[in-house]
Amino acid sequence: MRRKLVAGNWKMFGSLARNQALVTDVLAGLPQGNCEVAVCPPYVYLAQVAQLTAGSRVQLGAQDLSPKAEGAYTGDVAGPMLKELGATLVLVGHSERRHGHGENDSQVAEKFVAAQAHGLLPVLCLGETLAEREAGETELVLARQLDAVTQRAGVAALANAVLAYEPVWAIGTGKTASPEQAEAAHAFLRSRIAKQDAMIADSLRILYGGSVKAGNAEAIFAKPNVDGGLIGGASLVVQEFLSIIAAAR
Ligand code: PEP
Repeated sequence: MRRKLVAGNWKMFGSLARNQALVTDVLAGLPQGNCEVAVCPPYVYLAQVAQLTAGSRVQLGAQDLSPKAEGAYTGDVAGPMLKELGATLVLVGHSERRHGHGENDSQVAEKFVAAQAHGLLPVLCLGETLAEREAGETELVLARQLDAVTQRAGVAALANAVLAYEPVWAIGTGKTASPEQAEAAHAFLRSRIAKQDAMIADSLRILYGGSVKAGNAEAIFAKPNVDGGLIGGASLVVQEFLSIIAAAR
């Protein structure tokens, strides 16, 4: 039985005052339940959010990391730094990094390896653009993005990771993949991994991300291969985020 995970990606939003209000209200309204919950604030707020979430069931994540452990890499942040501030997980290969910052599959794979090397759970984000979907290339793209990591890290590394299927055309656009489209992509990813290791495929959590809201979470999370969600915009709205967590039973 896979335990669902709902992770909020705050992207580049927040302030000390807004974060305090958001986390306080989320903790106060957190529904009972078995699902795991995480928030991924911008780097500069990790220490603040670590303090605010201390002792709660809300885990702390970062939105990215450097593939290097330290060095002359101006502007980058390394895994050990995230770990020291209390992060337990980290997004890797988010589409806003792949498409906005030109990260390629091989760099994403390096970051995945670095995350695990520093004791962080990588949440590997994968997904096709609208043009790729319309060209019938969704599975081709997912396979390429997944294989880059399994070839680099080995399939066994997925025992200690989470995948997030995030169709690029659904992120921050208000367009959501239908539950059936999400299920098909998740089933494809799981079956591809099962060809190498059935047990790892069966226990691996695959989150859906892309305009998940209170109104559509339940139907998406009900699909058998969907194990929770990576939530962007809606994770910044207390009632929306709480309803999404409640839908992840
Ligand atoms: C995301 O940032 O990973 C995301 C899925 O964003 P949104 O929910 O706003 O589409």
